[in-house]
Amino acid sequence: MSKIRLAEAWLRDIPVAAVRTDAVQSFLGQETIFVRLGTEDGLEGRGYSYTIGTGGTAVLEMLQDYLLPTVVGADAARPEALWDQLRTSTLATMIGPITTLALAAIDTAAWDLRARALGLPLWQLAGGAQDCVPLYDTEGGWLHIEVDELVANAVAAVGRGFEGVKVKIGKPRAADDVARIAAVRDAVGPGTAVMVDANQGLTRDEALRRAHLLEPFDLTWIEEPLPADDVEGHVLLARSTSIPVAVGETLYSLGQFREYLARGAASVVQPDVARIGGITPWLKVAHLAEAFDVPVAPHFLMEVHVSLAAAVPNGRWVEWIPQLESVTTSRIVRTDGRAVPPGSPGLGIDWDDAALERTVKGKGRA
Ligand code: MG
Repeated sequence: MSKIRLAEAWLRDIPVAAVRTDAVQSFLGQETIFVRLGTEDGLEGRGYSYTIGTGGTAVLEMLQDYLLPTVVGADAARPEALWDQLRTSTLATMIGPITTLALAAIDTAAWDLRARALGLPLWQLAGGAQDCVPLYDTEGGWLHIEVDELVANAVAAVGRGFEGVKVKIGKPRAADDVARIAAVRDAVGPGTAVMVDANQGLTRDEALRRAHLLEPFDLTWIEEPLPADDVEGHVLLARSTSIPVAVGETLYSLGQFREYLARGAASVVQPDVARIGGITPWLKVAHLAEAFDVPVAPHFLMEVHVSLAAAVPNGRWVEWIPQLESVTTSRIVRTDGRAVPPGSPGLGIDWDDAALERTVKGKGRA
């Protein structure tokens, strides 16, 4: 491996594969920011980052105007040094999602490049702790789905081998949340994990009340019950309920995870490899969580997260949201409800560039 000589970025808007709603937002489209890195000896790596519909052009401009020019000349064998160089050059806009999303696009490309150069799949290069990880289905549990369909989706997911199902909560009336979860638990029986996700949509009082009402349903976790910056609220909730509290998809630094873990405010962490700034910090979050005996269940982006969850001993769950099937030729391999990490060198994602060409171009792109 040698010095990076090529560094370029572009943006495509990938349509959502299904209607997806939660307590506070809708998934409008996957703005996907790509980065390609090439070395002077002809190796290439491709990484990516994303938003669910806003800010993609800001991330692209951060990359093109500021970050990518500084990447040229960096040692492709040293992603940790590269990440630290990028971090220190962006301190004025840290901690912030635009910056970490930009760093993630570079960092995932750097790991793809290094893994390809070494001939290793990502899950092995990053640790290789587990050869498969349990999957749970998120796609059948969105908030707009009526209870009959919700139940049918959960039963179908169990029939396809999934070991768990996630259901969005945050209906205006608590009784409606309770009725939906009760119906799903009754349908899938005691052997299937059921998770709920409020997407930060509850107040402290309402989170305490709804957690109490949901206690009888043996939930695997309650996800993002409160605004992500309310660590104290999560501490209070975690002490008042037996339901494990899960957080992390809206955290953007290792230090934010440290705060949650040190205060006992999270029983499950859900780092998102794009939002946290790439594979380099994602692995640190996972290892930090291991020190607290806390499992990792990464947010979205199953195409990368299967490999990362498999890489670490505390990778416990990956969520099933097949969003990239229209623009990739690779598929997540499932056996008995578990995901098998890709075995090919690199990230193991085969992009269909012809299909990507047919998506909408982001601003200013070739
Ligand atoms: Mg969530």
